[in-house]
Amino acid sequence: MPEMTESQIFDQFAQIVARSLRIGAEQVTPDAELTDLGAESLDLIEISMETESQFHIFLPDKSILETAVEVFGSGILEKDGYLTEEGKRLLLCRMPETDAQAFEGAVSVKDLQRYFLRVNPWVRMIQGLARYTPAECAACGGPMAASMGFRMKCTRCGAEITLRSGEDLNREWVREYHEREYLPRAGAAVPMAAHPS
Ligand SMILES: [Zn+2]
Repeated sequence: MPEMTESQIFDQFAQIVARSLRIGAEQVTPDAELTDLGAESLDLIEISMETESQFHIFLPDKSILETAVEVFGSGILEKDGYLTEEGKRLLLCRMPETDAQAFEGAVSVKDLQRYFLRVNPWVRMIQGLARYTPAECAACGGPMAASMGFRMKCTRCGAEITLRSGEDLNREWVREYHEREYLPRAGAAVPMAAHPS
C-alpha cells in the first residue's frame, strides 16, 4: 500500500469498529475505549481479523508488556499487578508524550489493558505494522496483493513474501531496548535482582 496517514488509518479503522459494533462511525473517537463502545471479546476478535485483512498486517496476540516480561523476567516491569518505574519507562518509550498522563501515579496492569483498548493506540499500532507491508514487489516492482495466510503475492511475477508478525516485531524492539536502555543502567553497579527500579 502507499503509506497511509494516521487520519486515513483512523477513518478506516473507525469504519471497521462501527460496522462490527453496529454503531455510527462518529461515535468512534480517538479516546474511546472499544469496550465502552460495546465491544465484547468476540467483537474484539472480529475487529482484529478485519483490521488484519484490510490493512494487510499481522497483529500481535500478546501485549507489548507481556512480551517485555518474557524478555526481562518477572518482577522487573510489573510487581503485584502494578507497573514498576522500569515498566513505565519502557512503555513511555512506545507511546506519544500526549499519553504520558496515563502513566502517572500507580498504574495497574488492568489500567494498561484498558489504555490499549482505546482507539488511538490501535491506530498507532496499525500504522507501525503497516510500514512492514510492502506495496511493491522487491523482485520486479509490481504491485503486491494479499495472499493466503499472512502472505503477500506480486500480481506481476508471482513472488510471495510472508508478513512479519507483530509479535516478532515487538520482541525485536524489546530485546533492543533491554540491551541498549536497560542493561547499561541496571547492570552497572547493583545486581539486577536487588534493584527494585
Ligand atoms: Zn514481482
